[in-house]
Amino acid sequence: MIKKILKTTFFLLGFIVNAQSNSNTEAKVNELLNTMTLKEKIGQMAQINLTVIAKGPNKWTSYEPLMLDLNKARKAILEYKVGSVLNATNNTARSNKKWNEIIGEIQQISIKESRLGIPVIYGIDGIHGATYTSNSTMFPQQITTAATWNTKNAYNMAKVAAYEIRSCGIPWNFSPVLDLGQDPRFPRQFETFGEDPYLATLMGNQMIKGYQGDNNDVSNPNNVAVTLKHFLGYQTTISGKDRTPSFIPEHTLRELHLPAFKSAIDMGAKSIMINSGLINGIPTHADKYILTDILRNELNFKGVVITDWEDINKLHDRDKVASSKKEAIKMAINAGIDMSMIPYEYEEFCDNLHELVDEGSISVARIDESVKRILTLKYELDLFNNPNSNYKNYPAFNSKKSEKLSYNSAAEAITLLKNKNSILPLKKGIKILVSGPNSNSMRTLNGAWTYSWQGEKADKFAEKYNTIYEAISEDFGKNNVTYIPGVSYPINEDYDKMPKYEYYDQYEDNMLEAVEEAKKSDVIILCLGENSYTEKPGDLNDLNLNSLQKKLARELSKTSIPIILVINSGRPRIISDIVDLADGIINIYLPGNHGGDALSDVLIGEVNPSGRLPYSYPAFVNSLVPYNYKPSDVQNNNQGAYNYVGEVQNLFEFGFGLSYTSFEYGDLFINKENFAQNEVIEISIEIKNSGAKAGKETVQLYSKDHYASITPDIKRLRRFKKIEILPNESKIVKFKLPVSELSFINQYNKKVVEPGKFEIMILNKTKTIEIK
Ligand code: BGC
Repeated sequence: MIKKILKTTFFLLGFIVNAQSNSNTEAKVNELLNTMTLKEKIGQMAQINLTVIAKGPNKWTSYEPLMLDLNKARKAILEYKVGSVLNATNNTARSNKKWNEIIGEIQQISIKESRLGIPVIYGIDGIHGATYTSNSTMFPQQITTAATWNTKNAYNMAKVAAYEIRSCGIPWNFSPVLDLGQDPRFPRQFETFGEDPYLATLMGNQMIKGYQGDNNDVSNPNNVAVTLKHFLGYQTTISGKDRTPSFIPEHTLRELHLPAFKSAIDMGAKSIMINSGLINGIPTHADKYILTDILRNELNFKGVVITDWEDINKLHDRDKVASSKKEAIKMAINAGIDMSMIPYEYEEFCDNLHELVDEGSISVARIDESVKRILTLKYELDLFNNPNSNYKNYPAFNSKKSEKLSYNSAAEAITLLKNKNSILPLKKGIKILVSGPNSNSMRTLNGAWTYSWQGEKADKFAEKYNTIYEAISEDFGKNNVTYIPGVSYPINEDYDKMPKYEYYDQYEDNMLEAVEEAKKSDVIILCLGENSYTEKPGDLNDLNLNSLQKKLARELSKTSIPIILVINSGRPRIISDIVDLADGIINIYLPGNHGGDALSDVLIGEVNPSGRLPYSYPAFVNSLVPYNYKPSDVQNNNQGAYNYVGEVQNLFEFGFGLSYTSFEYGDLFINKENFAQNEVIEISIEIKNSGAKAGKETVQLYSKDHYASITPDIKRLRRFKKIEILPNESKIVKFKLPVSELSFINQYNKKVVEPGKFEIMILNKTKTIEIK
């Protein structure tokens, strides 16, 4: 009882302190705003790329070593009052010491030399660690984190990334990605938590906590402000290609795409970035309904809304909804944008916006709203007192502990998809051929946003870590392991100079030699997948795995030496025609710098794999359907003459993954059969480890609505729990599920629970309940 009273008191105190500091901040912001000219206000709404104010030949490149161009910086910050800078130059990572130097110079100008002394807010994409910082700790990508089904890993990644990014003097991170990753064709599925809104919501919540800290205290110099992206419905395009049109009914937007954002906003997310594409013909950057009616009025979002890259211009240049760039600015700002990631032609943006206000096309009140939010964020980050960091105050930068957390997450994500005759784990002392283009590459382990945008410099920056081949050699003994790629990716460390089709370009690299070597081996570890990519450069014309890689698999299989297929890719590429050639299949996704070590530990049996697919692994390119498909997606009921094939043919199901041990599920218990709308369903089940090894099992609870006014999903994930069980041990897992969570969004865009029967399902155990 005393504990409870104390807890409540602390909670109330925290609330009062927060409320106090909120009103202090508000007063400071209002005071400052009252002294600002229109030009100063508009400058706050402008974000430019670092190259624009760096010494260099043009706006897109900087000279090396990187130096600020004081004239250019003064023009932007003092003359145009620009309030924010983003990104790195020359697409490369720098030491946190170097970052401190650059940020220090920028802040010197903006604070010491400007009339009002407002600090610049610097933003960066540190999506699985401090992307643009050398020697930083790179975690698995979000899709890999989701495969752990352990939200602690999302928290750890964000916490370490926040610390390391802040060590640079950068307080604002463009992460996490809360888009739904339902389409494996899309080049950014790896940046998401996969295809399920509930899993994405829980993982996203933990990232907010890790980045912004407890109580969202971003004045703490170990925390950063988050940016949720990309609001809303970004990754669900018709073509599967980046930034192409999507058509999403509002009830679907609300049912599937909104929940993770809503939850993150409720948690106190400080900023949000807008979908660079268009929904139902309306570019999201001009969509007042989404940006203001939903985001502000309905979700009550108080933070900063930032555009994505050059997206205001795109309303004119690309989407043709604005007849000029000026018109585009008017549309976007009136729709609800606070800050424009311009990021090059800032003079044009600022001048146009000024004119629009002078002409009365945009009200001063609209400008004030945005500027208040931006200034609030700057105060909350304590940038007026601490505009920069000193890297020396970050002794835990890239610490052993952080590296271990990254390793743990990679190890927990690795998903065993096939293990014929228990070929895995492998015995020590056997002869191994490691082959495939992903065998010896830090770039492919990490994916994009790793020491550069497209990740092409990872082999240089992450040299100290083990590739798959290096890790296997260490664990199984150098003399037992041979590496012959068979197929390789062209090496090119400079993205700007890459051939256009680099990602599809692969070449035979001693394939015959690999086959000869295979004959002398006991097992082949065949590492296939993709090279790193993101955004438009990662657009695909064919989801099939590259044909040369498949050829390599076929040639190697002719030797009859068993193949362990390791899949290392950002999205599930189609492998149906080679899947039978492998006795073992392991999906490592994009596991980060410790992916090689983690995989090797799984191969040797030191780690019992426990990852589960966060997406459906499709079998065919024309059957790309998430696990929560509609009943009509499957009409092949094997009855009569009509046995339609090719519908929802997944190779591996969402949530699937094997273990080196086995689990037995007991009966499913539910506290009763009939429920009122305001009641809570209590579910329990016993799980036994019936194998010989300790293992982790992810218990997944699904529901299925029998009949509904909108055709119901075939099933929906409602709860999950990851537990560790020793051999012969049993554990009871309990879930509480409020009936309200069996709701869906109906055709009037309202959340409803319709009375009727539902199935509650855990694995193959199922019970029917009825909602009154
Ligand atoms: C991406 C965003 C990213 C931004 C800044 C854009 O092209 O879509 O996810 O935050 O660039 O780098």
